[in-house]
Amino acid sequence: MTSKSAAAAARATVYGYPRQGQQRELKKAIEGYWKGRVTADALRDTGAELRRANRRRLAEAGVHEVPTGDFSFYDHVLDTTVMVGAIPRRHREAVAADPLDGYFAMARGTQEAAPLEMTKWFDTNYHYLVPELGPDTVFTADSARQVAELAEALGEGLSARPVLVGPVTYLLLAKPAPGVDPAFEPLTLLDRLLPVYAEVLADLRAAGAEWVQLDEPALVQDRTPAELNAAARAYRDLGGLTDRPKLLVASYFDRLGEALPVLAKAPVEGLALDFTGPAAGNLEALAAVGGLPGKRLVAGVVDGRNIWVGDLEKSLSVLGTLLGLADRVDVSASCSLLHVPLDAAAERDVDPQILRWLAFARQKTAEIATLARGLAQGAGAISAELAANRADLASRANSPITRDPAVRARAAAVTDADGRRSQPYAERAAAQRAHLRLPLLPTTTIGSFPQTGELRAARADLRAGRVSTAGYEERIRAEIQEVVSFQEKTGLDVLVHGEPERNDMVQYFAEQLTGYLATQHGWVQSYGTRYVRPPILAGDISRPEPMTVRWTSYAQSLTGRPVKGMLTGPVTMLAWSFVRDDQPLGETARQVALALRDEVADLEAAGTSVIQVDEPALRETLPLRAADHAGYLAWATEAFRLTTAGVRPDTQIHTHMCYAEFGDVVQAIDDLDADVISLEAARSHMQIARELAGHGYPREAGPGVYDIHSPRVPSAEEAAALLRTGLEAIPAERLWVNPDCGLKTRGWPETRASLENLVAAARTVREEL
Ligand code: GLN
Ligand code: ZN
Repeated sequence: MTSKSAAAAARATVYGYPRQGQQRELKKAIEGYWKGRVTADALRDTGAELRRANRRRLAEAGVHEVPTGDFSFYDHVLDTTVMVGAIPRRHREAVAADPLDGYFAMARGTQEAAPLEMTKWFDTNYHYLVPELGPDTVFTADSARQVAELAEALGEGLSARPVLVGPVTYLLLAKPAPGVDPAFEPLTLLDRLLPVYAEVLADLRAAGAEWVQLDEPALVQDRTPAELNAAARAYRDLGGLTDRPKLLVASYFDRLGEALPVLAKAPVEGLALDFTGPAAGNLEALAAVGGLPGKRLVAGVVDGRNIWVGDLEKSLSVLGTLLGLADRVDVSASCSLLHVPLDAAAERDVDPQILRWLAFARQKTAEIATLARGLAQGAGAISAELAANRADLASRANSPITRDPAVRARAAAVTDADGRRSQPYAERAAAQRAHLRLPLLPTTTIGSFPQTGELRAARADLRAGRVSTAGYEERIRAEIQEVVSFQEKTGLDVLVHGEPERNDMVQYFAEQLTGYLATQHGWVQSYGTRYVRPPILAGDISRPEPMTVRWTSYAQSLTGRPVKGMLTGPVTMLAWSFVRDDQPLGETARQVALALRDEVADLEAAGTSVIQVDEPALRETLPLRAADHAGYLAWATEAFRLTTAGVRPDTQIHTHMCYAEFGDVVQAIDDLDADVISLEAARSHMQIARELAGHGYPREAGPGVYDIHSPRVPSAEEAAALLRTGLEAIPAERLWVNPDCGLKTRGWPETRASLENLVAAARTVREEL
């Protein structure tokens, strides 16, 4: 095909669409089903109706080929587990008895059987259920759901393309089943899995699929030669089948790197590539491999992970370059639109001037359709859209919201010295010891205490105007009083105020910082029926007034023991928000850090001697490719240090991260130069303490001795045993005693009992020193 006819054939498509419905109907139906209020048939009807509405919306917006199979009652990786028959043994009976209930049992667990583990889908905030495989796994094909959803679309006269998680990614995302040798590599099951995919492909072909999309995002991560060989073999085998639809192998979230030549050479009919963000390098790499002669290229030029209106002219020019590199070029978002909210037009409270800058799934779909038209018919055919887009982009670029001269001047004036504490750690540690006078093995908590139903109700009452601000604050103060007196009575050494005023550790700060935007309906799926509404970093960030000082000060006024101030760190503030795409992430992080730095200074001035800056997202925000780690860690550590380094030597800076595996970031954790770090460790028997020691970590650390993820109360003996294990790696002068994470999801009874045991354990072990 010449590039002119390649252009003329350009079509618009997407890989997936938000599942929930405008009013989050899906969540309501599923949760209603769990509670027995909605029948299975009604739930299925809701699902079918939502799929139909999505297809209609896509078709009306000018999408030529709609995806099918992207819908899910819980998670598309779990759906893939069902499709290949890899049901864990402990759930087989439930699945056989009732497939729908068995499906939810795998997702949520039952009295008898634990659920599948949940983990993050690459570097997004979506969580999938981890397949559990072993040498005995037998795969069997179950294409029913995929076939039925394709039939729905074809029945409406639409051109449709089933979307499946590809076999290589499926295996790379899996883990050894319980009881299986932890060294077992699921990828060794590839030869057993491919025939099942072959069967599904044949079924879809028979059901009328011209194309099927196989998603292989795992190939954008650093892969070993053996893994790349497995990918080559998978697509040689699937491509070699005779009874199959055309295959489109899709990748997203980053560049394909070494996997690009592998897929380009594979006997498949098309590739879908991401050309946004860190994946932009795909463009040059594609030219370097000589393009995709004879193949279809689906170009992900509209960013599927942010909520901003794209630059149509720029995308059109990328598409123009791509025309020469493939037989046919189609237009899409960089990834499934699952990761953005549904419709910006539903936002009634957003300033109309800002609303023009926002593109959720619906607006992104329109951009894709416009670009496909522009590619097929020439820029002239979309000149009105291009002009409107230019105006929207200019309005954003020139707005005082995105350009606050005071914020910019301050960020530009930051020097290295601003990120350095005035004294080295050893001297600070001595000053802090003298100032705080804590016992050996000091006890503390991570910040939050149980967020009871009453507290949430009080917040809802405040929002609804049923209670006055003064009444609400009275309620918060009462809670703080209770939390402080409990901690004193229990004998904790460094107290907290308990964070009762916080709805969420990011949202609470976002609501108080200028430059952040909240949405009313901007829900995105986090997992299952849990949806979050990430705030939007829309403009330059500043702090009009202190955000936490009065609560911390109030708590401090109630006790003679030190009360720890609690802040969410700049990296986490970015990680759990929609970020700006018009400046480097490091720039945004620096602005947030400077605002938090002022909060730290105000806390210190108000008499707070211990300040904790939580960074649970530091590790999860790590770029997918190792080559990008250093650049990320440089701005991330700079932002943390900028937040914290302005304090006096005798003010103790804590940080907290809630995960156990952090091999890749141990140096970065050291570079934060915090005085104390608390981490999750209870379930891994203090593994983290050994890792820190192995690294030569010189500061104080509190590896958790109480697993807060379950209501189980650890005994004092158990906590003491963990402490003794911790002491083998970290000397008593530098070991803290604390839970794994905050207690907000726990109830009071187990919190009380567990913290009493934790303090008792510290006392016992202190006496052994
Ligand atoms: N300070 C927060 C809390 O205790 C930390 C939460 C977290 O690390 N995710 O809730
Ligand atoms: Zn935590």
